[in-house]
Amino acid sequence: MAVMPDRTVLLPRFAHAAGTRGFAGRVLENCAAGPLMAWERPAGGPRVYISAGIHGDEPAGPMALLKLMEADFFTPAVHWLLCPVLNPDGLAAGTRGNGDGRDLNRDYLKRRTPEVRAHAAWLESQPAPDLFLSLHEDWETTGFYFYEINLGLDVPPRAAAIIEAVRPWFPPQPGPDIDGHPPRADGWIYHEAKADEPRRWPEAIFLARLGCPLSFTFETPSRAPLARRIAAHMAAVKAAGDYLPAHKKTAGA
Ligand SMILES: [Zn+2]
Repeated sequence: MAVMPDRTVLLPRFAHAAGTRGFAGRVLENCAAGPLMAWERPAGGPRVYISAGIHGDEPAGPMALLKLMEADFFTPAVHWLLCPVLNPDGLAAGTRGNGDGRDLNRDYLKRRTPEVRAHAAWLESQPAPDLFLSLHEDWETTGFYFYEINLGLDVPPRAAAIIEAVRPWFPPQPGPDIDGHPPRADGWIYHEAKADEPRRWPEAIFLARLGCPLSFTFETPSRAPLARRIAAHMAAVKAAGDYLPAHKKTAGA
């Protein structure tokens, strides 16, 4: 098993790997532990946005994005938008919230935190992505699960393919209740584009309101070994990538 990248070297290591692969980095906000970065590599294909590390105590997502970058997963045909560490201070401290203890992933309506203000403004300054993937972890589960928010065509085989891709590392979390929701199938929460708490929007609800037609929020079980959680996130991202939606510009052509 390869040595896992330490979270304190993750930001510079990601910057190096992305920079050498033609990604342009933009500092969205300077945080105490380092910059909140957005990485972009334009292309004519679909716009795919992936974020991780909005909860600082969920390191598998940021590390999975680093490993995908270093493995040259990000193909040239896709317009990639990557925020590998949305909460640099939380990641450095190993806390869910930011340096002020606020949960960034409930702040996309009121935008009281500088991180979310800067991040939301960046997302609003450009066309909505065609696909959004969000990498999270959950302390309360032993299996893998995800949220799907889908404003377009219902494609059940896509959800099934993600479940099967992750199964070598984790079985899908069974119902009848996952994170307060009845799953559509084991591991699969089909969620409306509406926040569970009306005034506390998570990032995925904000993306849907921006016009992003499809998102998946992946959740690996925090209590399992980190290497398995990283591998599971990588497998889920790859499986979702096999079902990339057509870009708006070419849809119907
Ligand atoms: Zn989370």
